[in-house]
Amino acid sequence: MKRRSFIKKSVATSLALSILPSVSFANNSSLDYSILELMGKIDIDLYGDGYKLKKEAHEAFVAMKRAAYTGGVNLKIVSSYRSFDRQQLIFERKFIKYTDEGLEPLDAISKIIKYSTIPGTSRHHWGTDIDVIDGYQKVDGDVLVPSKYGEGQPFADFKKWMDENSEDFGFYLVYDDNKRRRGFSYEPWHYSYAPISIPMLESFRSKNIMQIYKNEDFLGSEHFTSNFLRTYITDNILDINSKLL
Ligand SMILES: [Zn+2]
Repeated sequence: MKRRSFIKKSVATSLALSILPSVSFANNSSLDYSILELMGKIDIDLYGDGYKLKKEAHEAFVAMKRAAYTGGVNLKIVSSYRSFDRQQLIFERKFIKYTDEGLEPLDAISKIIKYSTIPGTSRHHWGTDIDVIDGYQKVDGDVLVPSKYGEGQPFADFKKWMDENSEDFGFYLVYDDNKRRRGFSYEPWHYSYAPISIPMLESFRSKNIMQIYKNEDFLGSEHFTSNFLRTYITDNILDINSKLL
C-alpha cells in the first residue's frame, strides 16, 4: 500500500474510533492498534494528575499508589506518555551533539540507543509505561540511575515494595537485570501496565517496521539500514522481561 493511502486509511480508522475505545478489532480474535497510535503520532485520551496514561493504566496506578502509601512509599511518576514529536526532539538533539563531537552517524546512533529510543519505537508512546520513583526520598542529581535503587540506597525501599507488589496491579519491570538480556540496560524505574502493553507490543510486531522507517524522515533516519533496524528490534524492543511478551 502506498504511504499516502496507508496514512489516509489509518487516520480515517482512528477518527472513526475516537468516539469508541482506541482499539479496533482487526479480526474476530485479536486486538489491533493502528501504527499511528503505536508510534505516538495521534492524540489519544490520556488521564492522570501530573502524568498521562491510558484510562485503565491510570486507574491501576492510582490503586497501586494508594497501596504503596501504607508501605511507606510515595509512588511518583517522572515520565509517562511521550509523543513521537517529543521523542524526535530528544533523538535529533543527541544526534546533532554526537556528530558535532566528531562521531560518524552510525556511531552516534549506536550511542543514542544505549539510553534513548528511536522515535516511534518508545514504549512511552503507548500510554502504558511509566518511569516511577519514591517521592518521599530527597535525592541529589539524576534519579534515574540504577545504583540509587540498590541496598542501602534512597530507592531501596521503593524497589522492595515494587518487587513484592507491582505485578498485583498489572505493572511489570520492562528492562530487568537479567544479565543475558541485550538492548537497553537495567532500568529499575521503568514499569509497564501489562494488560494493555502486551497486546500493543503484539500489534507492533505485526507491522512492517522496515517499510515504515523507509518513509520516516528525521535527522539520522537516513542511516537506518535494514540490518540495523532488525537488530534494534530484536535487541531493544523484544529482548525485555519475558513476562511482557
Ligand atoms: Zn522509561
